[in-house]
Amino acid sequence: SVKNNYLVNYAVYNESLRDNLMLEQEIVNDMDFALKNGEFKVYIQPKCDMDTGRIVGGEALVRWIHPEKGMVSPGDFVPIFEKNKFILKLDYFVWEEVCKVMRRWIDEGGRPIPISVNVSRINLYNDDLYEQIVSLVEKYQIDPKLFQLEITESAYSSNIEYLTEVVARLQAYGFTILMDDFGSGYSSLNMLKDISVDILKLDMRFLTGETNGHGKGGDIMESVVRMAKWINLYVIAEGVETREQVEFLLSINCHYAQGYYYYRPMPMEEFKELMRDGEKVDYRGMRRKMGET
Ligand code: C2E
Ligand code: MG
Ligand code: MG
Ligand code: MG
Repeated sequence: SVKNNYLVNYAVYNESLRDNLMLEQEIVNDMDFALKNGEFKVYIQPKCDMDTGRIVGGEALVRWIHPEKGMVSPGDFVPIFEKNKFILKLDYFVWEEVCKVMRRWIDEGGRPIPISVNVSRINLYNDDLYEQIVSLVEKYQIDPKLFQLEITESAYSSNIEYLTEVVARLQAYGFTILMDDFGSGYSSLNMLKDISVDILKLDMRFLTGETNGHGKGGDIMESVVRMAKWINLYVIAEGVETREQVEFLLSINCHYAQGYYYYRPMPMEEFKELMRDGEKVDYRGMRRKMGET
């Protein structure tokens, strides 16, 4: 029976493996056409000031509206596109969509707020990265302060000196740099002293499974936040879903959050409507650094 179990498990394993491979193959087959066919859409999730609930910025998140499969989430295709480098094209597409929309808002007389885009770890090794981003904001005449770049903490797990240089150059041009998923990997205080970063995004895993933020994840958050204050950074908590989490975060002096408690990611047109609403938006953006009142 041990042998039978083994065979059963093996068969199940083999089948799901085959399904995954097929899915991956399908994704690879479909991606170029999908981009040309307009199947990738940019959604934006607002970032909020927790004291007022007002929107102080947004993050662009890509979605694949597949004609047969429906909405496919980036967790299912970004890792595949990072393997085959298609992410270079997709990131560029997202950045340009954001620039276009900002340009339209401004041309229509709207007051812009900062939008962040994700920059894949793969793009950090793209020799044309700086040139591509700079020429986009120049083409659409967007203030680089409004076009923020999110780089995941885990990108820094190797080649830290090289990456620090790449990012410092972008920061010197005027882009705001956010460190995404902070605390999910091997980040340390030491690393932050060498890396160019303006805003830390606290990984949502700190909050997940916590009802009120007072467990271990909460303790870690509290010390991260205190540390951020010493080195003069802004901090945003990711994945905030409950009122209790909001209260906990405010109690440790974290002022900004992104999460379903406030808004889910939404199509750009919807976000544009929100941006018009002066009651809901704080056009001054994030003003308080960690610990400032
Ligand atoms: P991320 O950059 O850390 O984005 C935050 C993710 O958390 C998003 O997932 C967002 O929808 C989700 N989220 C926000 N609030 C909550 C909440 O309250 N609860 C929970 N459970 N989740 C929340 P999404 O959109 O599925 O994206 C996943 C990841 O895919 C992103 O993580 C990012 O690493 C990557 N990604 C998304 N768009 C792009 C892109 O244009 N380029 C690149 N290179 N990566 C992207
Ligand atoms: Mg992000
Ligand atoms: Mg994140
Ligand atoms: Mg994440």
